[in-house]
Amino acid sequence: MPSFLSDLNNFVPLWFWATFAFIVGCCIGSFLNVVIYRLPNGGSVASPARSFCPSCKTTIAGYDNIPVLSFILLRGKCRKCGKTISWQYPLVEFLTGLLFVAAVYRFHIGWQLPAVLVFISALVALIFTDFNEQILPDAITLPGLAAAVLLRCVDHNLIGMNWLSLLVEGATMRRIPQTGIAGSLINTIAGAVIGGGSLWLIGVAYFRFRSFRIRTPADLADFLRNRCVLGTLARLKIVRGEESLAVFVVGGDLEQLTAEELAEADFHPPDGGSDELKMTVLSGLTVEGSEAGLTVTGAPEGVAYENGKLEVGDVIRSGNLEGMGLGDVKMMLFVGAFLGGGVTFLVLVTASLLGGLVAIPKVLTQGKQAMQTAIPFGVLLGIATLLAIFFGEFGLKTYFEFALKSIE
Ligand SMILES: [Zn+2]
Repeated sequence: MPSFLSDLNNFVPLWFWATFAFIVGCCIGSFLNVVIYRLPNGGSVASPARSFCPSCKTTIAGYDNIPVLSFILLRGKCRKCGKTISWQYPLVEFLTGLLFVAAVYRFHIGWQLPAVLVFISALVALIFTDFNEQILPDAITLPGLAAAVLLRCVDHNLIGMNWLSLLVEGATMRRIPQTGIAGSLINTIAGAVIGGGSLWLIGVAYFRFRSFRIRTPADLADFLRNRCVLGTLARLKIVRGEESLAVFVVGGDLEQLTAEELAEADFHPPDGGSDELKMTVLSGLTVEGSEAGLTVTGAPEGVAYENGKLEVGDVIRSGNLEGMGLGDVKMMLFVGAFLGGGVTFLVLVTASLLGGLVAIPKVLTQGKQAMQTAIPFGVLLGIATLLAIFFGEFGLKTYFEFALKSIE
């Protein structure tokens, strides 16, 4: 550590930095609220520069825009129109403040700290955009991935020991780089592959095996709006005359897209040129339910892709998802590159356990229906990652010590 940094740590007490970090964190949280609100809605983060009330669009005065405090002073209501302000705004501000304090205690004042703070901020934004809109914006995950790889080239001991090199060296008895730039990059690549790769595999499996029965118009609407990620592909199994076909449709709540956006969108069918695979956009579709399935009574207008679309008389039987959106995969590429292989593995395990913890009481009280209103997986991954930043290395060390002891 450069000497001026250790001087700072020696002469300025940590509680002072912690207080400072809390205030800075709350202000960053206030900025994250703008990101969370505007990014999924296609707005610019930079303009308008001033915050405005989502209901009456009045620009919020500086004295009403103090993180956390203003919400309490205004009793959670807009000064102009009196509409309730979402509890999420002060929550994001307070949470970011607390996480910044925790980071100061965990990493102390050093040049790693800013990198960790930026990482934490990106995670908070991802957790809340996924919770609100089921979107993990590329504008956060992709630059994050690039930054994480660069950072690992510069700082060879970021977070998490080089689990993969350790294991491979143990197994092969050959010297595998654990430190330095080579060890650091091995750790980054291991993290990205373990994080992104495993989610991609799960997604592929999910697409193959998860099938939704469609018998009523409500089933179809539920499938397209709630099961599919907007703009991704879904497969509808249909019966046309004697033939069973699969037609690809664009999933999501299509009312959110304009006709031009639909026409311009670049959708890739998973099986490309195959004859039986057709894509269609469902705006203007009318259907009639029966026990056999949903009969198409009005063919959809809009854009037809490839060589066909749904036709009058087709009977829709079931729908398959594309699985989880690629957003989760990109998020875990980013997280994995930052945290390295070992800690990333812990993140996946923790997120799955959290998912179980959340799902079990819901399923017990609400039955099978509850499985369909589960918390988006990106939220759970984000929470698990935040835990891993602070406890991951400790968890790994404990595990390896335990494993070594049991071998001896
Ligand atoms: Zn207002």
